[in-house]
Amino acid sequence: MASVPSPRAAVQRRKPARPAHGVARLTLFINGTAYNVRPIACDPAAALTAVRLRKSDGTTYHVALPHDGHPICDCPDYVFHRDGIDADGCKHIRALTVVGMLATRKGGVA
Ligand SMILES: [Zn+2]
Repeated sequence: MASVPSPRAAVQRRKPARPAHGVARLTLFINGTAYNVRPIACDPAAALTAVRLRKSDGTTYHVALPHDGHPICDCPDYVFHRDGIDADGCKHIRALTVVGMLATRKGGVA
């Protein structure tokens, strides 16, 4: 008479799971341009959070959220055309706000 192993015995013979590993990357597309997004360390006295955006050509911009709740960016569009003028900021600030990586000055995460 043949016996059938119980399903529980089969489970116990599995190899133990290996620790999860690998590389995680976040890419944000803004108007068709891909940006590698990476949170960066910042002085807690200066900003709540900071993010680095890097294009494939190496161009890098930094967006920070100071304690006043008004995100800032170091891209030329923000520096020369929007700082203190456009409350919504540049495309980098808008995109990071839309995907929830920056809290808005209106409170909460967009
Ligand atoms: Zn910008």
